[in-house]
Amino acid sequence: MSDLLPSADVLDCPAGLASAPVLESHPAREAALPGGLVVRRALPRAGRRLVGPWCFLDHYGPLAFGAGKAMDIGPHPHIGLQTVTWLIEGEALHRDSLGHEQVIRPGQLNLMTAGFGISHSEETPSRNSGRLHGVQLWVALPDARRHQPPSFDHYAELPVAVFGAARATVLMGELDGVRSPANAHSRMVGADIVVGADGEADVPLDPGFEHAVVLIGGAAALGDLTLEPSALNYLGAGRGEARLTARAGSRLMLLGGQPFSERILMWWNFVGRTPEEIEQARNDWEQGSRFGSVPARAADRIPAPPVSPRIHASG
Ligand code: MN
Repeated sequence: MSDLLPSADVLDCPAGLASAPVLESHPAREAALPGGLVVRRALPRAGRRLVGPWCFLDHYGPLAFGAGKAMDIGPHPHIGLQTVTWLIEGEALHRDSLGHEQVIRPGQLNLMTAGFGISHSEETPSRNSGRLHGVQLWVALPDARRHQPPSFDHYAELPVAVFGAARATVLMGELDGVRSPANAHSRMVGADIVVGADGEADVPLDPGFEHAVVLIGGAAALGDLTLEPSALNYLGAGRGEARLTARAGSRLMLLGGQPFSERILMWWNFVGRTPEEIEQARNDWEQGSRFGSVPARAADRIPAPPVSPRIHASG
């Protein structure tokens, strides 16, 4: 997915320091993607830029549409991150500059590792269900891995952890000893939790991770905190579990990981370390180098916003 941060802002995201439990709720804000899809952005927010290596979460839908494409994002570049695409309803077609062309459906994972540079497009395929509901996440790559060649992987099946009445599909990393096959570059968890019956469930957590929970559908509370849809509920670190109270059918995303030990800069679709390398990536995209092309969508290539040296301090 393409972004999306306001064009003049370079977001400065400091290294993580979390070591203790907290419970903070950060409301999502609406944004419109290229092609018109409206999302609720839960991460990054002014008060919370990273959860482990997770640096971006958009929630879109559920929506129904007639003719046309609910999602239609032309070719755009990425560096320094992995995109994690997860659908709850509907379909999306991914095309990238490595030549991959992959339709994704609910229960499957598209994982694109940008490394030093890749470009891709995402759209509703012509044969579709007329429904769309999903999330788009980014994982920041550690410095030692961020200059590697790009890659793309599709995972048709993912493992499930069960605790109480809850079932958690493990997209990335590990939850309660259940490990995703997806290629991760730091210790983390990303899971889709569906609650099967009204009541309580204790979500098993790694005390060495910081965590956050986002309510995707239904009604749920964490401890005394009633969860607002699409908001980022940050739990801090140092917890061995979290008590979830939920209605049957509720769905939540769980994100976590070791507090990211590196300061990162985010601008547009790039995760870097210095303003100079972000400006270089911008110029490379504008000049048609480094990022290859997506020939089937070449006419819809998304130009970079003007770059700005203005850096927003963390908030
Ligand atoms: Mn993208």
